[in-house]
Amino acid sequence: MQFKNVIGHEKVKLRLINSVKEERVSHAQLFLGPEGCGNLPLAIAYAQYISCLNKTETDSCGACDSCIKYEKLVHPDLHFVFPVASSAEVKDKPTSRKYITQWREAILEEPYLTLAHWQNRIETGNKQLLISKNESEDILKTLSLKTYESEYKVMIIWYPERFNIASGNKLLKIIEEPPSKTLFLLVAQDSEQVLTTILSRTQLVKVGRIQEEILSAVLVQKYSLETSVAQKISHQSDGNFISAQKLIEHSTTEEEFHDLFKEWMRSAFTGKVDGLITWSENMASAAFGREKQKQFLNYSLHVFRESLMRNYGDSEMERVASNEVKFLSNFAPYIHGANCIEIIELFNDASYHIERNANPKILFLDVSLKLTKLLRVDAP
Ligand SMILES: [Zn+2]
Repeated sequence: MQFKNVIGHEKVKLRLINSVKEERVSHAQLFLGPEGCGNLPLAIAYAQYISCLNKTETDSCGACDSCIKYEKLVHPDLHFVFPVASSAEVKDKPTSRKYITQWREAILEEPYLTLAHWQNRIETGNKQLLISKNESEDILKTLSLKTYESEYKVMIIWYPERFNIASGNKLLKIIEEPPSKTLFLLVAQDSEQVLTTILSRTQLVKVGRIQEEILSAVLVQKYSLETSVAQKISHQSDGNFISAQKLIEHSTTEEEFHDLFKEWMRSAFTGKVDGLITWSENMASAAFGREKQKQFLNYSLHVFRESLMRNYGDSEMERVASNEVKFLSNFAPYIHGANCIEIIELFNDASYHIERNANPKILFLDVSLKLTKLLRVDAP
């Protein structure tokens, strides 16, 4: 991970680079910022910079022996500590070491990792992820080894919030009397949840949210969004790259669902059975998948609910996307007291059957035909 791959935070990067140039790298630093701000990739980029054999004024070289290992997160002097729990794979005394392969894969795939995503990835269910006493013992062992290739041994600790008092105290002792040439980079999201004793012994590197304009420019480049859309998403996501990605994903599916729904209703109103068959086949295609089929049924329910709201007094249209407003004003009159209960039941049932592996092609055609009839019921 090079600095150039970390979004924004130019001032912080500069300060970190200067600390290396001026040889005043503090041995314990806390990179503080909310999830999605990039404090984890920033800490990794900093470690890579320190270890790089050919560093420039602004970044690590990305090509030397050290950088090549860093890019794969396999440098022998780079160590990670992160919260874990037991799982089907690691049943006893879970530690970071036992999950290091999954960790590397997760970071290489998405350096803006969230705790929820990590929990999902290692399949620990609802168990709370922790940095345990076993881990502190492991840290001691790791640090007693001499460095292999670099001047410094670096230990990046993600979520120091997850130390308990016992394991935290062990870490403190190490931070207070560190083996020489050892750096601790703690990556925290909420300083109030970090043990105060740890806080007081680390130098704070305030990372904070990504600036709106910078995030917006990255979104334009990375997702080919229009500037106005990127600006809106950047604003809504509050400088959080993960939230921004989620918003983009969400808005593209909504748009797709809206188009599918419109097409569906067009066939339903004209009563064109071959149109409904083609549409159902498309919905049943492997590319769609059960999860998305269910999401689409939910989306349809949302359209019916909004139609009812519109017909029965609440015309507040803030909840719906702008492309839906026009569609709804034409469509809403067809959803009313004489058919709404049956329509909602029809969709709830369909969702239930999709979950239980019903044949989607038959199911969607069946729903289409029933819906065609229900839409023809006169309003009371
Ligand atoms: Zn290098």
